[in-house]
Amino acid sequence: MAKVNAELIWFNGKLIPWQDATVHVMSHVLHYGSSVFEGIRVYKTPQGSCIFRLHEHITRLFNSAKIYRMDIPFTEKQVVQACKDTVNANKLEVAYLRPLAFLGDVGMGLRAPLDAKADLIIAAFHWDAYLGNDAIENGVNVGVSSWNRLAPNTMPTGAKAGGNYLSSQLISMEAKRHGYDEGIAMDINNQISEGSGQNLFVVRHGIIYTPPTSASILSGLTRDAVFELAKELGYEVREETISREALYIADEFFMTGTATEIVPIKSVDGIKVGSGSLGPITKALQEKFFGLFSGKTHDKWGWLTPLN
Ligand code: PMP
Repeated sequence: MAKVNAELIWFNGKLIPWQDATVHVMSHVLHYGSSVFEGIRVYKTPQGSCIFRLHEHITRLFNSAKIYRMDIPFTEKQVVQACKDTVNANKLEVAYLRPLAFLGDVGMGLRAPLDAKADLIIAAFHWDAYLGNDAIENGVNVGVSSWNRLAPNTMPTGAKAGGNYLSSQLISMEAKRHGYDEGIAMDINNQISEGSGQNLFVVRHGIIYTPPTSASILSGLTRDAVFELAKELGYEVREETISREALYIADEFFMTGTATEIVPIKSVDGIKVGSGSLGPITKALQEKFFGLFSGKTHDKWGWLTPLN
């Protein structure tokens, strides 16, 4: 676990010292898991530091809150500005941003009062490659978890809610216990869903496949970026149901996420995937993706929001 830290945290509209950003032990969120959040990266680019897909992340935050009928007492525009302010106030050129809305002092009881307002914090700090730099170049070993992802119409995986990450913790902890770098899970139909915090892509015969949103996944913004970058490179991406055995005979297999970025998978359940190293299509996608930040890939989508 990375211990993270910075100088200031944005808390309900004010930048306060990191150590003062605390909540009471009787906060609703601690007892009932009532939070929604985002993970966003800030990259250094030739035009200065830029936030990747800031607007889409904040829209997803508000959509997650909407699903849970959680009232965030700020506008999306204010939160976008607050994210920039938090990075700037901490004088960070490269950062991971964590906006988190939660039910705090709303009284005891499962069902919060209808007029309850969420608290909102935004933290910005250094967070290196989630699975390590070696993972990006050489890949990781993953195992299919004995835990399935959440069933439809139980806890919505389309909302990035704190509670969903209990499922992710079971998947990730089991994987570590079995000696894998990361765990991936199937949905309740036993088709491939996603990693503990990553979307999954399989390459076979030059075509890229990924599970559809109906496979209990979070619709990742990196996943969406891969759709666009693959198109640029002339590859077809198909959202299709993927069986467990399809992973074993894939030419390439990789995972995506804001924290993870694009990481090749070299083995699944101890079975080598393709050549067992970074495959050509994964490599091309990585180059396009990281090229957005080095300036080699033209940002025709307007995904980069300058900090200043
Ligand atoms: N699935 C889950 C469960 C996640 O936590 C994440 C990380 N936010 C993703 C997928 C990837 O989403 P994104 O690319 O938007 O970070």
